[in-house]
Amino acid sequence: MSEKSLDKRPLNRTKPLIIAGPCSVESKEQLFSTLEGLPLAKLDYVRGGIWKPRTRPGSFEGMGEAAFEWIEEAKSVFNIKFATEVATAEHVEIALKNDVSMVWIGARTTVNPFNVQEIADALKGVKIPVFVKNPINPELALWKGAIERFVKNGIEQLGAIHRGFQTFQPSKYRNTPFWQIAMEFKSEFPNIPMICDPSHMGGKRALIGELSQRALDLDYDGLMIETHFDPDNALSDSQQQLTPANFTILLDQLILREHAFNDESIINQLEIIREQIDQADREILEAIATRLSLVEKIGDYKKENNVAIFQISRWKEILQSRSEWAKSLNLDPEFIRELYRHIHQQSVRIQTSVFNSDKASKTND
Ligand code: PEP
Ligand code: MN
Repeated sequence: MSEKSLDKRPLNRTKPLIIAGPCSVESKEQLFSTLEGLPLAKLDYVRGGIWKPRTRPGSFEGMGEAAFEWIEEAKSVFNIKFATEVATAEHVEIALKNDVSMVWIGARTTVNPFNVQEIADALKGVKIPVFVKNPINPELALWKGAIERFVKNGIEQLGAIHRGFQTFQPSKYRNTPFWQIAMEFKSEFPNIPMICDPSHMGGKRALIGELSQRALDLDYDGLMIETHFDPDNALSDSQQQLTPANFTILLDQLILREHAFNDESIINQLEIIREQIDQADREILEAIATRLSLVEKIGDYKKENNVAIFQISRWKEILQSRSEWAKSLNLDPEFIRELYRHIHQQSVRIQTSVFNSDKASKTND
């Protein structure tokens, strides 16, 4: 095991935190065979679910406390630090009794503030790292709220795990990343390390490499990846676990990025590009200001002539022509349509207030 520890704040880490191991601890043989194939010296923790929150009853729900006998043995044979998910105060008590080195809160738990509070209370004063997975649904507030409950209870080694979100939109992922939500989380809690769980995000082996690299490109502090010596026969999440051999290949292929630029000449170049970006942004804002003042004018006009604010044919024409202009400028038409939805909404808002202020001034006359 490496000596890396979470005492170092994310910005001081030189290497990503790596957690690997099976979705669930199934048997001593399964645990040992998996560990034998893993590059343990490169791992900070070995993961393994003991209590599995399953969507439907009747699925494999984990081996429970009995698994600790094998884990204890594995700790002494392989010299590993073991991490597991806790979902109740009782799990916390059993995990601590068995000297677990790190715990995480699962996505199905983060959605429930009562559960989170119960776990935070059970972990009060405990020194091991506690990681909080994002909630199942794309709601930043629930994730933040869960973190705050642990902060309030004095948990010092806190971390976050981004495992993607359920959505009703068709998606190639089991859980859509919505990277923006994790970025917002990071902006609000810059000192809390954020790691990515590409296994639950992707839901299939083929996506794990690209998701892991994407997370490192976005300056994540580590990865948690499910591995199993015989993934196809795993009792849970069989589609998304890597063999230890494939995990090793993946780890070697990942490109680590610097946190920031060090080289003086690159920093100068960067400053020049940033100034150009600032200038381009000013121009965008000036163009929006011009557009919105024209909108105000047309609002007056519609009001005077007693014409409705919303003209569906004009709106359709705007969407159509702007996405064609976007294409000719090599811009993503869907991005531009989305942008115009916002601009149009604001335009309608402005015209509505033009209509209302007219009314107000009439009654004042
Ligand atoms: C897990 O890590 O095995 C797990 C159940 O994950 P999640 O809470 O992200 O679904
Ligand atoms: Mn799993």
